[in-house]
Amino acid sequence: MTADSKTIRCPACQAESLLKRTPLYDGFKKIGEKLSCADCGHEFASEAEVPFAGKARPAIFSEADAPKAVQIFKADEKGKFCRYCRHYVVNPFTQRCSLHRRLIQATDICPQFDRKPETDEDPV
Ligand SMILES: [Zn+2]
Repeated sequence: MTADSKTIRCPACQAESLLKRTPLYDGFKKIGEKLSCADCGHEFASEAEVPFAGKARPAIFSEADAPKAVQIFKADEKGKFCRYCRHYVVNPFTQRCSLHRRLIQATDICPQFDRKPETDEDPV
């Protein structure tokens, strides 16, 4: 259980509040917990009824998609450079395009650009 799972959006006071767990005892035996809003004291019948703030955010998935889309955009931008092309051949002193058989710069942009597979990418 993360600390975040204690955050609730209380339907009674409409506030982002914390879940208060009060142990219920039958004699010395713990028989359960009373779940209530730390702000207004609104009680929840069961754990399933607790409106955890984290749970009420299906939008978090679309948010997770969004940065990915941005990354693809960035990859496309950098992908225009010859150094990310499968025809880019780097030697100790020269950088060549194996398609055009000429010397190039890593930052050249080529209309015949063909993305190098990620697995071939030199980590350096
Ligand atoms: Zn409340």
